[in-house]
Amino acid sequence: MIDDSEEATRKMQFLFALRSRGVTDQRVLSAMEKIDRGLFVRGLFAERAYEDMPLPIACGQTISQPSVVGLMTQALEVTPRDKVLEVGTGSGYQAAILSQLARRVYTVDRHRRLVREAREAFDALNLVNITAFTADGSFGLPDQAPFDRILVTAAAEDPPGPLLAQLKIGGIMVLPVGQSDAVQSLIRVRRHEGGFEYDELRPVRFVPLVEGLARDE
Ligand code: SAH
Repeated sequence: MIDDSEEATRKMQFLFALRSRGVTDQRVLSAMEKIDRGLFVRGLFAERAYEDMPLPIACGQTISQPSVVGLMTQALEVTPRDKVLEVGTGSGYQAAILSQLARRVYTVDRHRRLVREAREAFDALNLVNITAFTADGSFGLPDQAPFDRILVTAAAEDPPGPLLAQLKIGGIMVLPVGQSDAVQSLIRVRRHEGGFEYDELRPVRFVPLVEGLARDE
């Protein structure tokens, strides 16, 4: 049983870790203060939910480190009018943060179980502007395209063509690129009238973007 003052201290430490790692956007910090990461980490690791560390989740996947979630969200420059696509629902934590900043969030994962569990968390928090689908996100979500913002939370060797095609003019996509077992870079892509502008942000390490739906259920 955790009392109120313990919880307040924990929250303060969580926000302090985010700030000290470069998450400075106040809207992003408020969203991360509001959404309890503890609801997205199940089982053994639940008690470590407030540490700035990636943690294992079901299906052999990982929930990203909070500061990386913050930095990626910040780099995406989400506005309240935006329709956002996230590829790689995982625990649903990143999508929940995006839901606080955007008009509408679509999130897809190739694991049916992760999508089901993420939906339960969205329902519990009454996050009604998120829709989660089981799908291969490397093809985007053609029925809902185009998107103002796209966030990919699994690493591809190159930005997938369908995702570039589903980004609006003026839109932004943030994604890790590189081989899964080598160094990856977080990239920001801005789409202009005349083409795409690429920006390398920082080294990161994500699970790989894998083709096709998982056959684990
Ligand atoms: N954003 C998540 C963490 C993602 S881990 C969170 O906040 O918890 C990366 C996720 O990408 C994994 O759940 C994995 O199943 C998913 N993934 C990998 N390849 C995919 C693909 N082609 N389409 C959709 N999801 C994919």
